[in-house]
Amino acid sequence: MDYIFYPNLKKEFPIIVKGEGIYLWDNKGKKYIDACSGALVSNIGHGVDEVIEAIYEQMKKVEFAHRFKFSNEKIIELSEKIIKISPKEISRVLFASGGSEAVETALKLAREYYVEKGKPTKYKVISRWQSYHGNTMGALSLSGNVARRVRYSPLLLDFPHAEPAYCYRCSFDKNPDECNLECAENIEKLVKREGPENIAAIIIEPIVGSTLGAAVPKDGYLQYIRELCDKYDILFIADEVMTGVGRTGKNFAVDHWKVIPDVICMAKGISGGYAPLGAVAIKESIYEVFKKGSGKFAHGYTFAGNPVSAAAGCAVIDYLNKNNLIEKCEKSGDLILNKLEILKEKYPFIGDVRGKGLMMGIEFVKNKRTKETFDPSLGLTERIVDKALEEGLMLYGAALCADGTKGDAVMVAPPLTVTEIEINEIIKILEKVIKDVFESIK
Ligand code: PLP
Repeated sequence: MDYIFYPNLKKEFPIIVKGEGIYLWDNKGKKYIDACSGALVSNIGHGVDEVIEAIYEQMKKVEFAHRFKFSNEKIIELSEKIIKISPKEISRVLFASGGSEAVETALKLAREYYVEKGKPTKYKVISRWQSYHGNTMGALSLSGNVARRVRYSPLLLDFPHAEPAYCYRCSFDKNPDECNLECAENIEKLVKREGPENIAAIIIEPIVGSTLGAAVPKDGYLQYIRELCDKYDILFIADEVMTGVGRTGKNFAVDHWKVIPDVICMAKGISGGYAPLGAVAIKESIYEVFKKGSGKFAHGYTFAGNPVSAAAGCAVIDYLNKNNLIEKCEKSGDLILNKLEILKEKYPFIGDVRGKGLMMGIEFVKNKRTKETFDPSLGLTERIVDKALEEGLMLYGAALCADGTKGDAVMVAPPLTVTEIEINEIIKILEKVIKDVFESIK
């Protein structure tokens, strides 16, 4: 008997029994192309022997030792690997079991940092509308996705939200050519309005994933946020849970603009789905404040620093490096983006294609010129994702907030191991799926 409370009670969830490379199989023998790495998690693909063996080897030695009393070899090794791939100045790591936990850690760390620093009025964290930072209450409070927040709003923290950097639908009605980064200025205005003495951090997804379908900011945007944080003594938290550890063709998405945040949250790709894992990497200057202060950070999770998860993380990073997957990712990403551009020219309902590396979004519109969105009651994104699954293709349905509350987009984000032949296969099915779905709603 299956006693599971599934996220959608009206749907049947295929039972997955096997994974290899970019493919998954269910218990009825149906094969799926994982063109979205689950939820941009399976960065090195499924069934990689090196990772499975590393986990097994660690299991044979020790599976758990509580972090309040012990450290372990694998978590130390992993911390070193994370620091190696992080921007310079980032030199300490805290661990968690996933993205929301990593964001909660960053949120509390920012607060405690200013308490330790003797600035206890600084507690608010600014985030942006049309963002997603996780589903736990702190992380959901930061998330700017109305649909995901609304039922919980009485329970959420009252943190300020700024306008997003969503160039396809600029909040300030600017074309990319005439952009003067008003969306970044909007954050500065918000800092002034709330009072910098009350702001502990600004948290940003460098490339917005689940709520904007791979929206890339204009050059200069992240630099602006960096300078803004320096000017007002605010921590810059980069939420790289989706973008981090190679997904966009660099170790971290901030590397595209050579911006160094104070705090980087990562999860998903760091263990490539082989074990639950999250991490928060911070600058030495933050660590120093705690060291000179109370010497404590009153926060932690039972499974943070689990040696088995750490073994998975170490093996995944080694595999990425050994196979040059991050470099390859940039090239495969360009190839997919070119093919998506061709689809965009061909079909009136594709309004925008965007992204970096192997994190790409396709936004659908009713009218290309006006960018009008489809009636939400059509459930277009869901129809596309469902139809794709029927055809054996997994796509990530973005919880798009095009005009703040609605809109339709999917992400294409296969494992970094994807080959040209596989890319052609993905595009072929994708085109059939969208043609069929749009035909059906005519
Ligand atoms: N932050 C970002 C940017 C995410 O995309 C996600 C998940 O999609 C999270 C945080 C939450 O991560 P998790 O689902 O592992 O808790």
